[in-house]
Amino acid sequence: MRACIISVGTELVTGQCLDTNAAWLSEQLASVGVEVTEHVTVGDQLQHLAATIRQCIDRFDLVVATGGLGPTRDDLTREALAQAIGQPLVENEEALRNIKVYFQRLQRPFIDANRMQALVPEGCSIILNRRGTAPGLSCQSQNCLVYVLPGVPAEMKAMAEESLLRQLGARATGQAIRMASVLCYGKSEAWIGELLEDLMTPGRNPSVGTTAKDAIITIRMVARAINPPKAQQLLDADIAEVRSRLGKVVFGQGGDTLQDAVARLLMEKHRTVATAESCTGGLIANRLTDIPGSSTYFLQGFVTYSNQAKSDRLGVPAELIERDGAVSEAVAHAMAEGCRKVTNADLAVSVTGIAGPSGGTTEKPVGLVYIGLADDHGGTVKRFLFGEQLPRREIRDRAAKTALNLLRIHLLH
Ligand code: ATP
Repeated sequence: MRACIISVGTELVTGQCLDTNAAWLSEQLASVGVEVTEHVTVGDQLQHLAATIRQCIDRFDLVVATGGLGPTRDDLTREALAQAIGQPLVENEEALRNIKVYFQRLQRPFIDANRMQALVPEGCSIILNRRGTAPGLSCQSQNCLVYVLPGVPAEMKAMAEESLLRQLGARATGQAIRMASVLCYGKSEAWIGELLEDLMTPGRNPSVGTTAKDAIITIRMVARAINPPKAQQLLDADIAEVRSRLGKVVFGQGGDTLQDAVARLLMEKHRTVATAESCTGGLIANRLTDIPGSSTYFLQGFVTYSNQAKSDRLGVPAELIERDGAVSEAVAHAMAEGCRKVTNADLAVSVTGIAGPSGGTTEKPVGLVYIGLADDHGGTVKRFLFGEQLPRREIRDRAAKTALNLLRIHLLH
């Protein structure tokens, strides 16, 4: 079964609103064996929308449209669908009753404009909307199953789950799709690509591909088989293979973050951590405390931006800063050691660097960052050059991620 998703709304084509509905629907449809091969985004323009729905009905087995079902003049999807399938709009009693009940429940007066939402192209079924007023619509047109759902993501998701996905899941389409993403940090996409080259051969099942965003490399896998357990089996085998080839470079799967991985390890190993940050200004502490339950492992965070603060709070000798500069291996080392001593944490992380855009020299360019780590065996410092061309925000983000990653790898031992 081949499917297309039509996202309706001028706010989507102008970029004022990000189309998250299409992404969610693609993923959900894949899980019931339907492959989405096209996303179309259309503004609130009746003729264009009607023509788009018509063309998609001709080309696909399933068309799912979201948005444009509201009570205002720019909500045109009902009318466009009626034109596309060549049926008149008629008032649907059940839809009208549901809308009235919705208003009664909220103790609000029924507005006449909402009556328009009870208009349904003849031959279409309505899908109850428990969270809003706009009912969804579904119909069979030629060989195509058409679904129209509201644009508001929460309404759309609830209704898709109760109608579309349930119906398609029950149909057992003969093809199941399972997807996974494995997340990596610390190596380039090219390095990872080389190690996974044979798995990435075009046409292979599961298909394996990589994408890079904000220094995190995601390995996406899609497995197809005649039923869900077989697809899952294929996928699991590939996940295990990828994980074994990449080792410690993999920090998680799906929606994991580096801090999730660090938090898991800290909790598992019953270890505590404290941070001493300069150029990251508290980013690491922020991310470590983003996780519920972080009070079990996070003790304290210092933002020691000035030289004075480094000395006063962490005991970094002023002569050391004078001799090597605040951005130096020795200072990163002293910050981590000092932080551990002051807080009594099992582990301390320190960061000192030049986030730019000014302040760089030939010897110490923008993007130079030292990250220190101290535990009961002593301390280590690593030097990184994130690149002078990167904007300040990215250098700080990269420094925070790298520090979390070093902490993660340290905890793996
Ligand atoms: P309702 O009657 O409940 O408003 P609707 O079908 O008329 O439903 P729209 O008016 O098209 O919905 O959209 C309402 C809001 O939902 C938009 O302003 C936007 O915030 C969000 N929205 C619409 N389409 C999408 C989409 N594809 N992805 C994410 N958000 C969306």
